[in-house]
Amino acid sequence: MSYKDLELISAAKNLREEAGINLMSPIGDITQLVFDLGHDLVENDFGDDFSATCMTINGIKFTIALNTSQMWNENFRRFTVAHELGHISLVQHHAEMIRNGGLLKSKAEFQSNSVIEREADKFAINFLAPVGLFKKEIENLELTYSSLSNLGNIFGISLLSCAFRFVELTDLCCSLIIFDGSTQKIKYEIRSGLMKQYNKHPYLQGWYAPEQGSVTRLLAKPLGYDINDQIVELNEYYQNMRVSIRCNESVFKLGYNNTVMVLLSALDDPEDLI
Ligand SMILES: [Zn+2]
Repeated sequence: MSYKDLELISAAKNLREEAGINLMSPIGDITQLVFDLGHDLVENDFGDDFSATCMTINGIKFTIALNTSQMWNENFRRFTVAHELGHISLVQHHAEMIRNGGLLKSKAEFQSNSVIEREADKFAINFLAPVGLFKKEIENLELTYSSLSNLGNIFGISLLSCAFRFVELTDLCCSLIIFDGSTQKIKYEIRSGLMKQYNKHPYLQGWYAPEQGSVTRLLAKPLGYDINDQIVELNEYYQNMRVSIRCNESVFKLGYNNTVMVLLSALDDPEDLI
């Protein structure tokens, strides 16, 4: 049993309505919003690697408990609170489980593969960055670090969440690749709708060729070191591609979980090459 995407979008919309925030406005102070909705929020160092949990106060109202040792920055914190609001708002399974004494330990922001965690993440992104508003904001943007940084400021969500949302909703031909800097493996890759049409190469995962783009160069550098965007050929990443596409490559470290992010955005119109 699980929720359909449309049900998650509609639950996020309903909570915005309940909080009196329309779909074209970013969410302001999310902590105040939790209190305004009648819930409670506490912050503690729980000494484990989960980001948050939730307990019921009286079956209707809940306490959200954030794990301070896992709150990497304010935007990650906001996403985690929205994720917990998801567990509270998704009455079947989620809130039901909490009411029955089950402890939902969250790994927010796309860190978990469990259905219930992914549902809360989808709720959170739709609550903080509704489709219509996000599409309006990305209308004239390319997928680069500075675009994501601007979007992060508008929506109060992390660079990672901005990148996911961008690739999900853009009309551009682009890809997002996530590396785990500690294991030096590719964790996963996602493609925009248009990129899926032109890049049929199997999705990148696991070990990668060190000559791929700028990743190896960046991994050797300390946190905060910037590597300038450069132009790469898509077949530097997908070596069996017969026709390659010139892409802008942005590579940077997220600053937590040893995550390195690569943004590839086509500069040529793939239509002209194939
Ligand atoms: Zn959770």
